[in-house]
Amino acid sequence: MVAPRVYEAMSKPIVGYLDPYCFQVIEEIQDELRKVFGTRNEITFPISGTGSAGMETAVANFAEPGEKCAVFVNGFFSERICEMARRQGAQVVRLEKPWGEVFSDAEAREFIHREKPRIVAYVQAETSTGAFQPGNAICQAAHDADALVIADCVTSLGAAPVEVDATGIDIAYSCSQKGLSCPPGISPATVSPRAWERLGKRTRPVQSWYLDLKLLEGYYKGHKYHHTVPISMLYAVHEGLALIEEEGLEQRFARHRRNHLMLVSALEKLGLRMHVDEGHRLWMLNTPRVPEGVDDAKVRKRLLDEYGIEILGGFGPLAGKVFRIGLMGSSSTEENVKLLIDALEKALAAESAQGVAEK
Ligand SMILES: *Cc1c(COP(=O)(O)O)cnc(C)c1O
Repeated sequence: MVAPRVYEAMSKPIVGYLDPYCFQVIEEIQDELRKVFGTRNEITFPISGTGSAGMETAVANFAEPGEKCAVFVNGFFSERICEMARRQGAQVVRLEKPWGEVFSDAEAREFIHREKPRIVAYVQAETSTGAFQPGNAICQAAHDADALVIADCVTSLGAAPVEVDATGIDIAYSCSQKGLSCPPGISPATVSPRAWERLGKRTRPVQSWYLDLKLLEGYYKGHKYHHTVPISMLYAVHEGLALIEEEGLEQRFARHRRNHLMLVSALEKLGLRMHVDEGHRLWMLNTPRVPEGVDDAKVRKRLLDEYGIEILGGFGPLAGKVFRIGLMGSSSTEENVKLLIDALEKALAAESAQGVAEK
């Protein structure tokens, strides 16, 4: 859900992309983003486009043609990183796990020490599975091998600690429409000094002109025209970040955690089991397994038609096997959890009653 104050902010008068007010808004966005990312990185700015634009920025600037790019693959979005890296001409090597599982520190170290890549990528919060991948061991091993680390923080930013600096992440990106509770259209990104230095040593130009970080820095820092930034979306993110500042980061994370725990315990009372093991679960994206014999699409349709609640299903290897329930930003409330649980209980009962009738 988008907060009413964000809608209001988007209706403010448009200024030009070189207007001092535009740069003031950008400066404030950068300051707030550093706090939410948990970083002191100078290079922290909003990329125009959705989360995938942030992903493509990270990959296009840092996965160079012919160089080895090691990807931890345990869900849909790590597959997308592989595809983007292949298109850049990088040599992609993969370590795979079933969707819903995460990589142990030992597995991470062994993979990186064996492959000796130039760049490593993993997804911190895998929205397709509901699993959280810790990054400390990955980053440590990567830095020992002189590799940079890209972390997809699309779903975590604004809903859980991302901890870019404490984890050792070099390049992180996110989006506006998940933990920040804004409309889709902006992808906040941040780059470590180490990664920035590596970028300076590139001999070939970045294939994407639009997502070339050096050119983007020329605009965000040097105030030179690059492309016309989507100012209404910047107003939205500016306001979304102000809401986070007012709530307090710790309080916001605690709210997401509390509502997640409440949801899990209520789902378990309904007899559902969580797909991801305790301790690896995301707070903002919950994946209970679909009970045996239940058609998840029918349950979801009933929730939408009769209760106006939209939850998603699984896809890929998890198609028909899990529900995906988002509790992100403004949507993570106790009231929403109660509403959903009540509706889900009725929808599941109606489905099994119908199943019995059909038999
Ligand atoms: C949503 C998502 C993306 C892609 O973001 P878009 O805004 O859909 O382009 C990438 N990675 C993860 C983990 C996501 O959840």
